[in-house]
Amino acid sequence: MIRAALWLALYLGLVLLPPALLVLLEPPRSGGFAWDFAMILGYSALAMFGLQFVLTARFKRATAPFGIDLIYALHRWLAIAALLFVMVHVILLAWRYPAALGSADPLRAPWHMSAGRLALILFAFIVLSSLLRKRLRWAYESWRFWHGLAATAALLLAIVHAEGAGHFLNAAWKQWAWGALAAFWIFAIIHVRLLRPWWVARRPWRIASRERLAGRMWRLRLRPVGHEGLRRFEPGQFAWLSFGQHPIRLAEHPFSIASAPGSEELEFAIKELGDFTSTIGELSPDTHVYVDGPYGAFSLDREPQARGFVFIAGGAGIAPILSMIRAMAARGDLRPAVLFYGNRNLQRTAYRAELAALAEQCRLKVVLLLHEPETDWEGERGYISEGILRRHLPEKHDGWHAFLCGPKPMLALAEKSLRRLGFPLAAIHSEIFDLA
Ligand SMILES: Cc1cc2nc3c(=O)[nH]c(=O)nc-3n(C[C@H](O)[C@H](O)[C@H](O)COP(=O)(O)OP(=O)(O)OC[C@H]3O[C@@H](n4cnc5c(N)ncnc54)[C@H](O)[C@@H]3O)c2cc1C
Repeated sequence: MIRAALWLALYLGLVLLPPALLVLLEPPRSGGFAWDFAMILGYSALAMFGLQFVLTARFKRATAPFGIDLIYALHRWLAIAALLFVMVHVILLAWRYPAALGSADPLRAPWHMSAGRLALILFAFIVLSSLLRKRLRWAYESWRFWHGLAATAALLLAIVHAEGAGHFLNAAWKQWAWGALAAFWIFAIIHVRLLRPWWVARRPWRIASRERLAGRMWRLRLRPVGHEGLRRFEPGQFAWLSFGQHPIRLAEHPFSIASAPGSEELEFAIKELGDFTSTIGELSPDTHVYVDGPYGAFSLDREPQARGFVFIAGGAGIAPILSMIRAMAARGDLRPAVLFYGNRNLQRTAYRAELAALAEQCRLKVVLLLHEPETDWEGERGYISEGILRRHLPEKHDGWHAFLCGPKPMLALAEKSLRRLGFPLAAIHSEIFDLA
């Protein structure tokens, strides 16, 4: 919590300090409140857009206290807020100082003003296309490519606009400070687009085995080629995988690591869902795979004081939870735990034998939950509910933590039921397999 608060304070500082310094120290000749306010909004919006690249640049220290879903939700909301700031910046100027905006004709307007206008159009495109992507049925990979390209172009144009317009950059030190900030944002872009992919490409992996687990779920095991692999991570974390394509192409998908830390091979449980995951069964064993990770905050290691655990998984949501249970078994962790694992039927339930074995080895109770079960099924039916939780959880569960991973409606139901059983919000942790 403290680390999260510190990072948030740093974020606010990086957004608010530059415009504050530009206005407060050596204040430039004021054009009136509306003018100053419009300028502060403009500079703050630019700082926010620049920091968007830092948010998604995968700096592990900065993202560690937050879950990836929170980072991407922040990324979305901050982009909307920054776009609103820019719009108010333009509307205020158009209303009170129309002469400052000058001609909209790019042939007659100063170049820095045209750069600003183009940046605004691109920012609006970026925000709207992100909000409407699913409705427009725009494939994620193609959207992501254009999103990155438009965002980089928009930021560079906006920097050109701010430097060219020059309001408040009336002293050399202000130009230096602003230049340093812009260099930091550009470094974030270089980090995520070039440096990180280059580093990841130096550590290739290959497919050690690939097998259908149950229904549309596959087990994929990866072995490092010429390096020691990824042995240290927190069980429950995930990695970005690129199959057969150099990481610089950013054609990567996030998958939770299903294996426990410490082993040479990494295991993933992948469900066929769309154009990429449906090809998992066709991957050649020689395919080079690149692994960028670990990331994420969904791990029991973050709750060392927990006295017991409720795990609630649906379908492929078992992957990070299996990693945690396997880690408990490997460490001899005998804290009590109950796993509720929801699937359509027994045929579609992966890892049944291993979960039964883990239940013998640890203080783990496994409750399978089927919503279209086989006719002879005698276990729990339907979806997770308060009643089902009550039937299987011990009466006293003070100090227990719950880890939830599965489809959104299941998470909502599970969270509501856990709250009714008295679980505080801070003891309920969830991972959503959807970033946008
Ligand atoms: C933190 C995290 C961990 C995950 N762990 C697992 C796991 O262990 N097992 C599993 O089966 N699935 C997991 N997923 C989901 C998995 O990443 C998507 O199912 C997969 O990327 C879908 O790709 P597709 O091209 O087959 O499907 P599509 O039909 O192209 O995409 C379906 C949806 O998946 C999302 N998506 C697609 N491509 C990407 C991408 N490159 N990056 C981010 N999101 C994308 C988009 O929201 C898209 O609308 C995880 C997702 C996240 C965010």
